[in-house]
Amino acid sequence: MPVPRRYVTDAIVLSRFDLGEADRVLTLITPEFGKLKAIAKGIRRPTSRLGGSLEPFAELTVALARGRTFDVVTEVRVGHAWLGLRDRLESAATAWYLAELADRSLEERHAAEPLYALLRRAYELLDADMAPGRVARWYEMHLADELGQRPEVDRCVECDRMLEASETFRWVPPLGGVLCGRCPGPATDRTALSLEALKLLKAYQRLDIEALAALRLAPSVEREVEAAMRDFMRVALERDPRSLAFLDEVRSGHAARPAAV
Ligand SMILES: [Zn+2]
Repeated sequence: MPVPRRYVTDAIVLSRFDLGEADRVLTLITPEFGKLKAIAKGIRRPTSRLGGSLEPFAELTVALARGRTFDVVTEVRVGHAWLGLRDRLESAATAWYLAELADRSLEERHAAEPLYALLRRAYELLDADMAPGRVARWYEMHLADELGQRPEVDRCVECDRMLEASETFRWVPPLGGVLCGRCPGPATDRTALSLEALKLLKAYQRLDIEALAALRLAPSVEREVEAAMRDFMRVALERDPRSLAFLDEVRSGHAARPAAV
């Protein structure tokens, strides 16, 4: 839709960088106008009216004016500040990762209502202290769905046969999901997948979030599904998210909060 000269929208900050002496450029996701870049002029001056409210991990209401290169932020109000999420480093690192996935999945100025709702819900869950790994897997699975790349976990991606519990499985992201024991598949890019991991992948597609939060799972199965979904997202988005390195550091206990966070 054509964007009016001045407009107000809900928004979540996906990323940001400083520009010049006092400005900051933000990448925002909005439900109606999709992803867009906006400039907050003078925001790094102590006297700035925009001050500390134009931050990630919050749902904002932002007033913008059309600009030549970037739209200009004229006013900000915080709708929901997910403060619980910010308090825990692993939740915050996961939130950056989810934002980066959204950023890379979206073209600028394409309506993004489902992705906006997905990210918003994921931040609510992180804020409510749901295990960050489960929120991330749930989000990856639904993001893949929104991108039209839902992983195939019920039928073999090559012969289309229904997978049976008694056979062996391989996870082949370039083919879109699981390969049965009978099909040769490509020589590379295939990893053995356990029946427990296959069941968990199905659960992420089918169960609602309350049921997922309540599942009792072996850590080894969670790790297997994490690796599988990372591989899948790397293929779907055609690159490795940069924020994963930070998330891994946080979980290994060696991370210092970087200046940008
Ligand atoms: Zn097959």
